[in-house]
Amino acid sequence: MLQSPLHLLPRKPMNQNIIQLTEEHVAGTYDRYPIVVTRGRGCKVWDKSGKPYVDFVSGLAVNNLGHCHPSVVAAIKKQAEKLIHVSNLYHIESQSRLAEKLTSLSFADKIFFCNSGTEAIESAIKLTRKYFFDRGQSEKTDIITMCNSFHGRTLGALSATAQKKFHVGFEPLLPRFKYIPFDDLQAARKAITRKTCAVLVEPIQGEGGVNIAAPSYIRGLKKLCQKNGALLIFDEVQSGFGRTGKLFAYELYDTKPDIMTMAKALGGGIAIGAMAGTNQVMKSFVAGTHAATFGGNPLACSAALATLKVITGKNFLRKVNATGIYFLKRLKEIARENPVVKEVRGAGMFLALELNQPGHEIVIDCMNRGFLINCIQRNVLRFIPPLIISRKDIDGLVSVLSDSLAKLNDN
Ligand SMILES: *Cc1c(COP(=O)(O)O)cnc(C)c1O
Repeated sequence: MLQSPLHLLPRKPMNQNIIQLTEEHVAGTYDRYPIVVTRGRGCKVWDKSGKPYVDFVSGLAVNNLGHCHPSVVAAIKKQAEKLIHVSNLYHIESQSRLAEKLTSLSFADKIFFCNSGTEAIESAIKLTRKYFFDRGQSEKTDIITMCNSFHGRTLGALSATAQKKFHVGFEPLLPRFKYIPFDDLQAARKAITRKTCAVLVEPIQGEGGVNIAAPSYIRGLKKLCQKNGALLIFDEVQSGFGRTGKLFAYELYDTKPDIMTMAKALGGGIAIGAMAGTNQVMKSFVAGTHAATFGGNPLACSAALATLKVITGKNFLRKVNATGIYFLKRLKEIARENPVVKEVRGAGMFLALELNQPGHEIVIDCMNRGFLINCIQRNVLRFIPPLIISRKDIDGLVSVLSDSLAKLNDN
């Protein structure tokens, strides 16, 4: 990380001072591109020198409504003037309303609120343990997760994340996690035992490369869990809130989990996480079993309510689907013209180009030319723009991308 190529990139003078402060005083856990983003509006952000960028990263699938959406800003302002935080020792109006909304929009009966994706995963792991403990089945402790999954960075979620690169230096991890290949039902059949308490899966893997599970796989996992008395947990931290063209990715699979984790886009940019479950499992979370000081605070919940109102508005998701289909079609054109592209895949506005070589240079080239994209797993370009992205902005990116990829083809 230390001597990363990003570290060596040229910096624009207006951004230089802040970059220096970061390097001197902020923990070095992030490899950052050399721009300071100071302002955002819709699908655009500006750096400190005033240069605009069209944002196809969305703060990592957070800004699904774009930057500073007026309804979200208004809700935050209004709530901030009334009550920002109060403890869960008391009832919180926007929290109760948000829980009602989330349960009415999903399979779930009850919600536990926290502040991030990783915390939602921790909550799901703890709830699973407690559920089987309450049933007198404390021998059920094994959790099956998938290779190339990503569930977060705290120790429980890290243990669930089946990618060696995130584990190095932090072992020993939590015991009793079993990793199997993603989208391989046979592997799941082999791995599941009467000791399995849960199968945890992202229906569409995000950080792992935008890998889309087959419908038969997700339905097969459900049957397998039912047969073996294990819980099915969907991690929708990245795939939720319209990203796939459905409110939740599980709707694409016609398969309901027992537990679902959410975060990223839920708060329209304000930190919030949530774990949703059926009454059957949630009844194990009784008073005193789990908590989060900031979980479900008035400000975050008001922002989330405003966000959900827009996403579930008339025709919103229909439009996301139409634009997503257009984006996919344009990416397929790029693939046909560029032999460096190995595969195009995606659902809704959750899209990727897999290259047969590293994609780092493409990301930098696009950034210099005013488009933010990101590269995961070294060679997968991921596109997760605000769901309100226009065809014009997509065309803009596609033209810069094809130009940039053509240079790779020539190498
Ligand atoms: C980002 C992500 C997480 C972790 O969320 P944080 O808010 O960063 O803790 C967990 N699961 C998935 C699928 C994610 O994409």
